Amino acid sequence: MNGAPVIAGNWKMNLGPRETQAFFRAFSPSLSAGTRPELILFPPALSLAAALNARPREPRIEMGVQNVHWEGSGAFTGELSVPMAREAGATHALIGHSERRHLFGETDEEVGKKVAAVLEGGLSPVICVGETLQQRSAGRLEEVILGQLEAFLLVLQAHPGARVLLAYEPVWAIGTGETATPLDASEAHGLLRRRLHSALGREWAERVSILYGGSVKPGNAASLLTASDVDGVLVGGASLDPASFQAIAEAAST
Ligand code: PEP
Repeated sequence: MNGAPVIAGNWKMNLGPRETQAFFRAFSPSLSAGTRPELILFPPALSLAAALNARPREPRIEMGVQNVHWEGSGAFTGELSVPMAREAGATHALIGHSERRHLFGETDEEVGKKVAAVLEGGLSPVICVGETLQQRSAGRLEEVILGQLEAFLLVLQAHPGARVLLAYEPVWAIGTGETATPLDASEAHGLLRRRLHSALGREWAERVSILYGGSVKPGNAASLLTASDVDGVLVGGASLDPASFQAIAEAAST
């Protein structure tokens, strides 16, 4: 792992402003002075202001939005733009989460446009890729995740050296209690890393953090975090509970 491990939490459509304040009243991880994880939370956009106000001074927690539109403004009812997210205090944007892809029909092309808008707007994207169980069982893991990566590689190449994070999230492991083994995660991350090496050059590719996501819990976080090519975790359900998210952050602190 290069640099500090990244512990990110995706709250999805959970925790309104009042619950967000309650979350931070209960969240006070004790992180060792050595390697401190980089903490990022993705609250619902309506709870972003509450999260920014209630977050502790220490440890620092960056905030992100769960989705953006690629246009900066306009007649796009219900959407959020990158400039607005940045003005509101977000530093990161989650792009291409499997729920966006599978429940809302987001395409690879749209993911590419969103990644471009995020990088042009000065936020760091956390871009999700991952295969379904059917695709994995058909031996298509490599084809699927490298295909999803290919859809935004040209966009990355247009922003040399940008801070970029990928999340490998096998769809069959999201919210199901099924977790990829550390070896499964390493294999998938290795495929992504090798393609990043050839597309972005070794130095930049090594600085891209590749997070694993899919039913990460306090009990499995440490073993996933020590797997090769795993630079952090993206946590859904367990990030809603301050004690669980705290335990995962502490597992990453050495
Ligand atoms: C996610 O939503 O990105 C996720 C990994 O969810 P969970 O941890 O609940 O599987």
